[in-house]
Amino acid sequence: MPPGGRMSHCACRASSLHLKPPTAFPTVPAQRQPSWRVSWRGDRRWCHGDSSAPLGNDEATEEDRAYMRRALGLARRGLGATAPNPAVGCVVVKNGEVVGEGFHPKAGLPHAEVYALRAAGNMAEGATAYVTLEPCNHYGRTPPCSRALVEARVSKVVVGIVDPNPLVDNEGIKTLQKAGIQVVVGCLEEQCYEINKDFMVGIQEQDSSRG
Ligand SMILES: [Zn+2]
Repeated sequence: MPPGGRMSHCACRASSLHLKPPTAFPTVPAQRQPSWRVSWRGDRRWCHGDSSAPLGNDEATEEDRAYMRRALGLARRGLGATAPNPAVGCVVVKNGEVVGEGFHPKAGLPHAEVYALRAAGNMAEGATAYVTLEPCNHYGRTPPCSRALVEARVSKVVVGIVDPNPLVDNEGIKTLQKAGIQVVVGCLEEQCYEINKDFMVGIQEQDSSRG
C-alpha cells in the first residue's frame, strides 16, 4: 500500500505525500490534533489536519521568506553528510541584522540552531530564529534545540516545515509556544520539504509500515 491514503478532512489534491497516523497513537482532543497529518496540496502549502488546530501564530512575511532562503542556503552546505539526520539551516536575526547562522554538518555534531545561537551570543535575546525544519525536542546526542531557543530568549521562531515524524508530534513547536515564543510555521515549506525529500519520504515509509 502506498504511504497514506487520501484523507477525507483535507482538500489536498495529491495523495502520494499524505502521512498516515499510526493506528496505535492515542486519541487527542480535536483542538490538539497533531500536525503529522501534513499533506501536500499540490501547490506550495501544507495543511495541518484540522483547520481548527492551526500551528503557529502568524503567516510568514516577505522578510521571513528572505531569511528562510538564507537558512536553506546554509542547510544545503550539509547536504549529503548529515544522514540519517536531515540537512538543516538556521539564521538568527536581530533588528534586521543577521547575528548568527549555522547548519547541521554531520550526524553526531551539533544541530544548526546550536551553531547559530552560539554565534549570536547575547544578541539572540529578543531575536528571530529561522529554522528550515521544526526544532528537535528530544535528548539525542545533543540537547533539544527547542530548549536551546527558549534559553537563548529568542522572541520569535519561523519554522520552514514541521518534522513529519509522528513521534515528534509537534513537541518542538509546542515547547516554543509554551515558553511564550511567537512561532510561524510553513515558511517556504515546499523548498524545506524538497531539500530533505529522502528524509521526509523515509519517515513516511516507516510510518506506513507501522500502521
Ligand atoms: Zn536539534
